[in-house]
Amino acid sequence: MKPLAVRTRLTLYYTAALALVLAAMGVVSYRTLAARLDADANQRLEELASGLRGYLHFEGGGVSLAYDTEDPEEAQFIRSATRFFQVYDAATGQVVLQSPWLEPMNADLSASQLQTLLLQPAYDEVDTEQERLRFHNSVVRPDAQHTYLLRVGINLDQNDAALQHLLRVLLLLAPAGLALAAFGGWWMALRPVRALRRAAHRITIAKLDRRLPLRGAGDEFDQLADTFNQVLARLEDAVAQMQQFTASISHELRTPLTALQGEAEVALLESSSVEDYRRVLRSQLEELQKLSRMIHQLLVLARAEGGEFHLELKPVDLAALVRSLAEQIELLASDKGVQLAVGAPAPVTAMADAPWIERLVLNLLDNAIKFTPAGGCVSLTVKKDGGTAVIEVADTGAGIPEQALPHIFERFYRADQSRSAAAEGVGLGLALVHWIAEAHRGKVEVHSSPGQGSRFKVMLPSPISTVAAQS
Ligand code: ADP
Repeated sequence: MKPLAVRTRLTLYYTAALALVLAAMGVVSYRTLAARLDADANQRLEELASGLRGYLHFEGGGVSLAYDTEDPEEAQFIRSATRFFQVYDAATGQVVLQSPWLEPMNADLSASQLQTLLLQPAYDEVDTEQERLRFHNSVVRPDAQHTYLLRVGINLDQNDAALQHLLRVLLLLAPAGLALAAFGGWWMALRPVRALRRAAHRITIAKLDRRLPLRGAGDEFDQLADTFNQVLARLEDAVAQMQQFTASISHELRTPLTALQGEAEVALLESSSVEDYRRVLRSQLEELQKLSRMIHQLLVLARAEGGEFHLELKPVDLAALVRSLAEQIELLASDKGVQLAVGAPAPVTAMADAPWIERLVLNLLDNAIKFTPAGGCVSLTVKKDGGTAVIEVADTGAGIPEQALPHIFERFYRADQSRSAAAEGVGLGLALVHWIAEAHRGKVEVHSSPGQGSRFKVMLPSPISTVAAQS
């Protein structure tokens, strides 16, 4: 069975809770009103009975009612008190006086009822065909020989009507209130979800700058929308980077390919000598090698970022590693008239994948030599700084403009197009350096200013102490 929507479950839950509360409140208010009306009726009966008792005269076995008919208040009281009243003679069990209203109602007491009430006077109720009556019973002993039971009653119809009215109101209002609350809650929960769904539908890859609306309530819906917006912002960045990357790669491939094509066309048009063709082919080969290098670098980077390479981290002595690299690169540096200084006297161990670290150092050295004019100096040092192994490649070369610094680790980024083009870089070396450092849970920093040279600092975790690594 399909589970109910959260909204429906919530609505059902609180509607049931509200129904319970309303029912409990209904029962309590009905009972309270009934008890109150009951108490009022008893109090009124008490007043009528004790008042009426003062106007009754018992003489020689007879009973009569005496009051001042001229006094409107008295007359009014007697009218209310004698509307339903009876006086029984205890000795005969007969009614000796009663209101004319009662006679046809067949509300007389049986002998046993009379005896019970004489012994234990209490309230009692009589349901006649027309109305419901409550009586107050009291025993009157005017003298030693005579005993009477005085019954004074009132009509309970008004009380019943009030209770009926309350019941009707409760039965009408409670379901209406329940329906209103259920629908209101359901709709209120539905509205923000709908708005979010509508907004989410409008977000496409081409329109990733759109965001889900926040209502400003700071509630769960706002929090969800905010989190979703943060994800969208990251996606937007990633897609922009991919688009930038695609544009860059197209540009990088188009320029050399156009040059190659142009060169080949010119060579074919001009009926040149074999030596000319050789020259063109040599130049094309150079260009093709550069292209192939670039594609290789790109592939390595793409596979690395795609998680295809699994680094095998082992304790590696970085000092020995950089000394051996320096020997390899020495010739390249001296060919360019750049002095290479190595400062790695003591072993520095880091958890590293040696071939990848070699590539990282080579890329940095390659750049340092490339961007340092003849007569300059490149230094390569390795040291330990607490739990970190630090490899530093510094040069006295061109330096990097401040505005270029945040971008140099991006793919295809070259700080100075004309100069880099001359130096034959494609702008992928530092992107790989960055990836290698991060894959080792390390980081790479750069300090540079134009004309002052550059200093690249690679920090790698070095959990094992140098002494332990040596032994
Ligand atoms: P490239 O193939 O162009 O060297 P990189 O990714 O290795 O690509 O470097 C990106 C850019 O960073 C270079 O084009 C250059 O502008 C700048 N750069 C890198 N290293 C140095 C350095 N040692 N001195 C000056 N500029 C540098």
